[in-house]
Amino acid sequence: MAIKKQYAVIGLGRFGTSIARRLHEAGQEVLGIDIDEEKVEDALAYVTEGVISDSTEEKALSSLDITNFDCVIVAIGDDIQASILTCMLLKNLGIQKIIAKAIGKRHGQVLEAIGVDLIIYPERDMGERVANHLLSPNTLDYIELSKDHNLEEVITPSKMIGKNLRELDVRAKFNVSVIAIIRKGDMIIVSPSPEELLQKEDILVTIGSKNDLVKFSSID
Ligand code: ADP
Repeated sequence: MAIKKQYAVIGLGRFGTSIARRLHEAGQEVLGIDIDEEKVEDALAYVTEGVISDSTEEKALSSLDITNFDCVIVAIGDDIQASILTCMLLKNLGIQKIIAKAIGKRHGQVLEAIGVDLIIYPERDMGERVANHLLSPNTLDYIELSKDHNLEEVITPSKMIGKNLRELDVRAKFNVSVIAIIRKGDMIIVSPSPEELLQKEDILVTIGSKNDLVKFSSID
């Protein structure tokens, strides 16, 4: 289990609730805050403590001892003004790490100017994920390394099973590097040798440009 940390989630809508629930499941301490009493009551099952409070009120925020928290997540969406004001107050209070949800580009730009450490665009990111899944059905998961490059977990194409990386020549043919193989779910072969024979259900951890990876993960 991860080291126990203290998180505060402000805004217990769908997004905030999902974060709070997952952190709580992982044994972390989670303070849930919402202006709406009903939202706080609904969240009590998966937060360590729930507080009804308006996060745009400086006094209310300071009274929560929020400066002691390792990370504060601002999950207020539709009320952009409240989201911005809350982030500004948290920044002024010197919070170590602020993560905030942005509902659009402009909202995100303001949060960035305030100095929010990580800005999440849930709808944009989810839309991209769905499109990527359609383009590359064999990709299980990915991390965006840059605008053009990804690290991806790709199911081994069936025609590659039983062959080794040397004969497949993935790097030359697809411009993609296989940096690890995940075998039988939990065995990880880091920097596999060129002689490594690919087995059924192997997952290839690959790095490459997004376009090259789309081609690689679309092989039958
Ligand atoms: P989602 O799309 O994740 O459901 P919403 O924007 O609907 O996001 O939910 C945001 C939550 O933030 C709501 O539960 C709302 O009551 C809460 N909220 C909005 N303004 C404030 C505020 N000033 N202080 C605390 N909570 C707030």
